[in-house]
Amino acid sequence: METIWANSGDSHFLEPDDLWRTNLPKRLADLVPRSEKDPDGQWETVHIDGMSFRRKLPNPKLQEFYEASHRAPGAHDISKRIPDLDQEGIWAELVFPSLGMWSSSFRTPEVLREALRVSNDWAWDTIEKASPRLVTTAQVSTLDIDDAVAELERVAAMGYRAIFMPTAPHPLQKDYNRDEWEPFWAAAEAAGIVLAFHIGTDPIDLSSGGAVGQTFRGPGGAVLNYTETTYGGQRVVTKLVASGALDRHPNLKVLIAEGGATWVPFIADRIEEGYRQHAMAVRPKLKRSPREIIYSQVYASFQHDRSAIGAMTAMGYDKVMWGSDYPHMEGTYGHTQETLHGLFDGVDPKVRERITVGAFNELFPGVPAVPAAA
Ligand code: MN
Repeated sequence: METIWANSGDSHFLEPDDLWRTNLPKRLADLVPRSEKDPDGQWETVHIDGMSFRRKLPNPKLQEFYEASHRAPGAHDISKRIPDLDQEGIWAELVFPSLGMWSSSFRTPEVLREALRVSNDWAWDTIEKASPRLVTTAQVSTLDIDDAVAELERVAAMGYRAIFMPTAPHPLQKDYNRDEWEPFWAAAEAAGIVLAFHIGTDPIDLSSGGAVGQTFRGPGGAVLNYTETTYGGQRVVTKLVASGALDRHPNLKVLIAEGGATWVPFIADRIEEGYRQHAMAVRPKLKRSPREIIYSQVYASFQHDRSAIGAMTAMGYDKVMWGSDYPHMEGTYGHTQETLHGLFDGVDPKVRERITVGAFNELFPGVPAVPAAA
C-alpha cells in the first residue's frame, strides 16, 4: 500500500506533570494545580491558585480511555515522536500543549502569566527544536489581555508561528467579540502569528463537582458529550466575524482544530443570512462579505469526516486541513494510513495534496516538503 504522507493540523504533546512546579519560584509554584485523590478513587481535591475544589474522578472505564489516549510512545517522549510519525505517515504537525487545560481555573493574572511563560520556553526548547517537522503552539493568558499581547510579542520574537487559543476566554474576562480584545487581534496580525483554536477548550468549571467533559448524562451521554465539544469552534468563528475582528485584520489567520470542515461553509451561509436579513440591527457593518472573510482567513482541521472533502470539492472552501489528533482516542493513531486511504483513494490528486499538505504549508510556510510517495 502506498504511504500517503500528510501534515497534521492537530496534534498534542503531554508536558511533564511537574513542569510548572519545578520551574516557577516557590511563591508561584505553590499556587499551580495539585490533585489529591481520595483513597477510594472516586473523588479528587484540586488545589489551584489558593482555592480548592472537590470533583468526581472519571469512572474506571473513562480512566482507561484517558490512559489509552496517551499510549503512543511519542506522546510524552520527544525522542520517540518522529519514529511514531514516520510509522503513521504523518510528516509535519502542529503541536498543542496539554497543561493549558488548567488555564481557566487560575484567578491571579501573575501566576497564569508566569506558568505559561515557563510552558512556552520549555515547548520551544523541547518540541520546536527537536525537528523542523514540529510546529509548536505557544500559550497566552486569556485572563489578562495586556499579558496576552506581551507574551504573544515575546513568543513571536522567539520564532513561534502559532498560538493555542481556547474556544472561549477565561470566565473572568470579556468575550472574544468585545472591543477589549482588539489589541490582541492587532498584535497577532502584526506578528504574522496564527491563532489556533482547539475545540473542547471552553473553560472548565472545577467548582461544579462534575468530571471534566461530562455535561450530559443518561442515554446517549457519551456521544452528546463528544459532539458538544464541536460547537465552541463554530461560536468563536462567528464571534470573530460578527464583531468585525477578522474584517479589520485581513491578514490574521485562524485555525479551528479538530472540529471538522463542512461546518465552515454552513456557518458562512448562516452569518451571511443574519447579516443580510437582520441588516437593520447589525453592527458593526463589515467591509467584506462574511463568506469572503471566512473562506480566506479561517482554516479547519478534521480527522475522519467523510464530508470534509466535499467542503472543498462541492462547496469551494479550500482551507480544509487534515489532522491526526495524535495521540488521542478521537484521532487516527494506529490506523492513519487506513484513514487516509479511505478518505482519498479515488479523489483528485490536487484535492488530496491541498488537504493533506498544501493548506498546512500555506499556514506554516517553511516546513520541510513531504517525502515523495513510496
Ligand atoms: Mn486535537
